[in-house]
Amino acid sequence: MKPPPFTYHAPTTVGEALGVLAELGPEGKVLAGGQSLIPLLNMRLAVPPHLVDINRIPELAYVRVDAGGVRVGALARHAELERHAGAYQAVPLLRQALQLVAHPVIRNRGTTVGSIVHADPAAEMPAVLALLGGTVELARKDRRRTVGAADFFLGPLESCLEPGELALAVHFPHLPGRTGTAFVELARRHGDYALAGLAAAVTLDEDLRVAHARAAYVGVAPVPLVVDLTDAVRGVSAAGERSWTLAGRLAQSEVQPEADIHATAEYRRHLVGVLTARALHQAAQRALPEPGPDRTETTP
Ligand SMILES: Cc1cc2nc3c(=O)[nH]c(=O)nc-3n(C[C@H](O)[C@H](O)[C@H](O)COP(=O)(O)OP(=O)(O)OC[C@H]3O[C@@H](n4cnc5c(N)ncnc54)[C@H](O)[C@@H]3O)c2cc1C
Repeated sequence: MKPPPFTYHAPTTVGEALGVLAELGPEGKVLAGGQSLIPLLNMRLAVPPHLVDINRIPELAYVRVDAGGVRVGALARHAELERHAGAYQAVPLLRQALQLVAHPVIRNRGTTVGSIVHADPAAEMPAVLALLGGTVELARKDRRRTVGAADFFLGPLESCLEPGELALAVHFPHLPGRTGTAFVELARRHGDYALAGLAAAVTLDEDLRVAHARAAYVGVAPVPLVVDLTDAVRGVSAAGERSWTLAGRLAQSEVQPEADIHATAEYRRHLVGVLTARALHQAAQRALPEPGPDRTETTP
């Protein structure tokens, strides 16, 4: 399939892009990595009259680590963030999740900001933003605003972005000490969108017992669903082998999975139970002070 006809714009500065987007209003669509938009155009599921390509705006291509966390510009590719050593040190969950996003060739082109704006409920990076309580910086010609993850995702493939707005960057805050994270999911094939999955964070107290646990789920709700699981695992020893299934059961009661051609709702709910236990255990292990040899790896 070929895309429908459109007028192509290629601004070279943010100011120029905002000017073009202001003129076009709802008729303009931003093109970043194109890894979601181009297939939609080719299948004629989207027919925007104007595309505003931001790939020639170098000021948007950055990953910056500061005292508060990691700031990712709108032109930073998934692969750049995945490989960024400073970003991994500051927020390990970024790499743990990005390893599960599609295939390397797609990560070389697709952007993390684009993935978040696209707001696919099965995508990994919106869940990471939701779990960490991150923010998105939005700009329009006459206004700038910063929106928290809890207000950003409105529904499947729907964010709060308004016509004429450009997402400039996302900010992923780092987590407190003695906190470990994990991203665990099940997909039909490696690189496919997950049938169900979750990003998890576990914080330990001074006795290395669970003080706080929460997770953000993909594939089982219209938006990334954040669930506080602390009540189910408070006081569990991170070093012990005690089962984490209670947290899985709590999560099962919170999610709203739907059936599709890939899986029934019951199967997705079952996965939530199993994957939650696995993710919390992994995150708790990573929160322990002595790193194990495979702390940089995730188990898909
Ligand atoms: C085969 C395949 C498998 C995939 N598997 C996965 C997967 O397992 N997990 C996953 O998370 N993703 C997956 N993806 C999607 C991939 O991560 C995309 O790169 C991502 O969803 C969109 O990023 P992009 O930069 O390509 O955005 P684009 O495709 O360019 O844009 C996507 C949408 O976001 C808007 N947009 C993008 N950037 C901005 C901006 N700065 N400001 C305003 N609007 C903007 C566009 O207008 C468009 O509506 C897959 C893609 C393919 C082709």
